[in-house]
Amino acid sequence: MFIDTHCHLDSYEQHSGEAVGDLFSRLAHDPDQNVQAPEAYIHVACDPADFERAKELSEKYSNVYAAYGIHPEYVLTETAEDEARMLEYLKHPKCVACGEFGLDYHYGADTKAEQVKLFERHLELGLASKKPLVLHLREANDEALAVLHNADLSGTNIHVHCFTGSPEFCSQMLDLGTQGANIFVGFTGIVTFKNAQNVRDAAALVPMGQMLLETDAPYMAPVPYRGKPCHSGYIPYIAQALAQVKQCPVEELYRACRENTRRCYMI
Ligand SMILES: [Zn+2]
Repeated sequence: MFIDTHCHLDSYEQHSGEAVGDLFSRLAHDPDQNVQAPEAYIHVACDPADFERAKELSEKYSNVYAAYGIHPEYVLTETAEDEARMLEYLKHPKCVACGEFGLDYHYGADTKAEQVKLFERHLELGLASKKPLVLHLREANDEALAVLHNADLSGTNIHVHCFTGSPEFCSQMLDLGTQGANIFVGFTGIVTFKNAQNVRDAAALVPMGQMLLETDAPYMAPVPYRGKPCHSGYIPYIAQALAQVKQCPVEELYRACRENTRRCYMI
């Protein structure tokens, strides 16, 4: 049994043209034996325009949970009202986390200073919410660490989502444990990509008790579906690749990640 700890169901619908309800019923009997229906989904709404839809999905399906945050790509358009709405949605009973938020210098190289300011503020809001935090950190290692080192993270569950950084950055994130944070690192279909040895090397450093399975669907579909719309049913491909990295039976990896999901998100 596994939970997809990070997916964007509404974007999946847009990318694939398949309605979420159809996907859910199809996953139970997909002809590919490696495609399996997850036990539950954490649907991440990171555009304020999508908060309401996330709430609806989490109310309609008992196994869909939601996270609310504001992605760094909205750094120039985000308003005070967006933040106020986010705080309201964070109180919803099916909300399990605040995020994703963070820094993205890959796509946002020209808004670095603004992103750091926003990251600091969202970190403050997220910590005040007492929810687990979902961080999106891309090509901004030093700045991310500087912001995180300045914050009081004690007792906070943090999911470093869709890890794409270096092994060095991975161990720096794990070291935040010394600040009292409970760090979990999420791996997506990228671990199956031929050219992603650095991500597999990073995964090798993450203790079994701190790993999470996620797809980031509809992005990052694992091999052999690379380039196609990704959905949560592909988690077994990710689990198999991670088990190979950790040199353990895949059942053991599933068991550990399921338990980590419980510890991080209380589900
Ligand atoms: Zn995401």
